[in-house]
Order: sequence, then structure tokens, then C-alpha cells
Amino acid sequence: MTDNFAQLRHLVGVLTGLCDACADETAIRDEAGAALRRLVATDDWLPPEFAAADPTQYRQYLLYCDPRERFSVVSFVWGPGQKTPVHDHTVWGLIGMLRGAEISRGYRLNAGRLAADGEERLLPGAITAVSPTIGDIHQVENALLDRPSISIHAYGANIGAVARHLFALDNGEAKPFVSGYANAVIPNLWDRTAETRARLGL
Ligand code: FE
Repeated sequence: MTDNFAQLRHLVGVLTGLCDACADETAIRDEAGAALRRLVATDDWLPPEFAAADPTQYRQYLLYCDPRERFSVVSFVWGPGQKTPVHDHTVWGLIGMLRGAEISRGYRLNAGRLAADGEERLLPGAITAVSPTIGDIHQVENALLDRPSISIHAYGANIGAVARHLFALDNGEAKPFVSGYANAVIPNLWDRTAETRARLGL
């Protein structure tokens, strides 16, 4: 039997080890980025309830949170044409594209105003990163108008509960923002019964 969550557990294990070792952001981007790349290399493991788009708003589903809230992993689901406001994260973030396509428009604050700072178009398998040290403000949009797009993100905190900011595009004004999560129940990554039974010939 296929273990759908093997790569997600691998990512969680890598992130736990990096946090235990107090690894710096560069090591996190390299090592966790490689594990995230493996995770989004196939699109056959995310259960439909964590891939469901909402007709009115993009959704963020929690897939895993470290017991000490040192990191979290989420699925981000955009309906056709949906986009986020301009926002920051305040912690490191890794983004791996799973399905569809998205556009990330970067910004930086310049004398209290937002200045454009590059644009990326992500396709399945692609990885990118955000953080206060490399650029933390962006707006993300589903590049597709006819179907949902999904990316898998890891962040250096329990991201749904972090005090963050939204920014007005016209004057750069910042407002407090806490993203929350769309789900009350998280997936069971730990049911390895089939693997053990197979090993025992049961
Ligand atoms: Fe973001």
C-alpha cells in the first residue's frame, strides 16, 4: 500500500532536526527546501479536504505544527483568479508549488511606501522563499482563471497565529493581520499500520 504522507513526514523530520540544531536560515532554505522539493515533485498525496477551494476566499489549511511552534506546514489553496492582499510573514517561509500556477509580486518598504521588487511565476515543482532577511512582503495570486492552484508552505512559526501585517498598495499603510487556518482538524500523518503489517506478513 502506498504511504501518501511519507514525504510530508520526511519534511517534518528535516525541519524538526534543523530547529533542534538551531540551524540558520540558509541551512533551512537548503535542507528543508530540498525536502519540500521532494514533497511537491508528486501531486498524489494531499487529501481533497485540504485541497478544497472556497468560492469567496483563498484558504490556508494547517497540515502540521511543531509541538513547540517552531515551524508549521500548510496547504494554500486559491480558487480561480483569487489573490492575497499585500502581506508580510515576519518569519522565514518556504513555498513549493504543487498544482496549477501562481504569481508572487515582491515589494519592499521605501520611506513608508511600497516599491515593486520583482515578480515570480511558479509552476508545479518550483520552490521559492520569503523572510525578513531576503524580502518578506509580497502579494500572491492564482495565475489561472479556470481552476484552483495549490502550494505547500513551511514557515518558521505557527504561522496562522503570528502577528503580521497587511499593506495598502497605494500608500503603504500597514494594518495588523493574523491569518488563522481554514481547518479545525489536521491530517493523520502517523498511521503506518499498513507498513508494519506488511513487514510482519499480516
Ligand atoms: Fe505570503
